[in-house]
Amino acid sequence: MALLDMLKAYSTDEKCREVLTKLRWPEGVECPRCKERRASWLKSRNQFECGPCSYQFSVTTGTVFNDTHLPLEKWFAATYLLCESKKGMSACQVQRTLGMSYKTAWYLCHRIRSAMIESQKEMMDGTVEIDETYIGGKARRGLPRKEKQVVIGIRKRNGELRLIHVNAATSEAIRKVMAENISEDVEVILTDESSIYPYAFTVDQKKLHKTICHSKEYVVGDVHTNTVESAFSLLKRGIVGTWHKVSAKHLPAYLEEMCFRFNRRKNSDLFIDTLRHMVTAPTLTFKSLTKETEAA
Ligand SMILES: [Zn+2]
Repeated sequence: MALLDMLKAYSTDEKCREVLTKLRWPEGVECPRCKERRASWLKSRNQFECGPCSYQFSVTTGTVFNDTHLPLEKWFAATYLLCESKKGMSACQVQRTLGMSYKTAWYLCHRIRSAMIESQKEMMDGTVEIDETYIGGKARRGLPRKEKQVVIGIRKRNGELRLIHVNAATSEAIRKVMAENISEDVEVILTDESSIYPYAFTVDQKKLHKTICHSKEYVVGDVHTNTVESAFSLLKRGIVGTWHKVSAKHLPAYLEEMCFRFNRRKNSDLFIDTLRHMVTAPTLTFKSLTKETEAA
């Protein structure tokens, strides 16, 4: 959908609510509390009321939009911008483009991002490339060097991309990533010659393992990890160019956003699909977003 068409289609609160209602309850409005489908519309309050339990709610109740003071038109515009920019968009840019405070833009981006996540991840089969990369860690003048963050990338040939934040590039971390993502039906596993991989694999996985020596050549026939590496370069351009600095705490959410968009890059319904996730994903409160994480 082109920008002008989107702005026209969702120019009022009413139009936004109408599409969200269809996306959240394709089979009819359902009470979030008792799950009955016998709600009536209270025009004076601009809300639904459940017949059986009398609970009053709106289409945004209990979703990432929960308790928002921002007009839905701005939510839609911000969602559109986050979907359309291949490398993502910073809160600063959303602040300037849509006219709002930095704090509002920051929270808004995080809430949209929290819905840009695959709710059901299937185990990956076929030919998979696995590689690791390092994010951040550059010393800034006068500041201590920040620790580098390790990201494991898995890309199925002609298929999905996954980016996973791990504590360190160790066989143990790879083993866990394999167990959670790789199917028993996998056919070929491609990595570089790093010694962390063979130790991480099961006996069966070792039989399917092919390596490529990066110091000599990049491509030997079909044995290469170039497709996962191209995803890494997109990720790095996103982090350097768009988000500037990403803390270790928020890195997993950025990785999910990147994969969500990347895996739908040929899908013309990315915007609508994201809105659907936003009315079906759980609420993200400001408190949970800003709380300190326990030291890992
Ligand atoms: Zn009810």
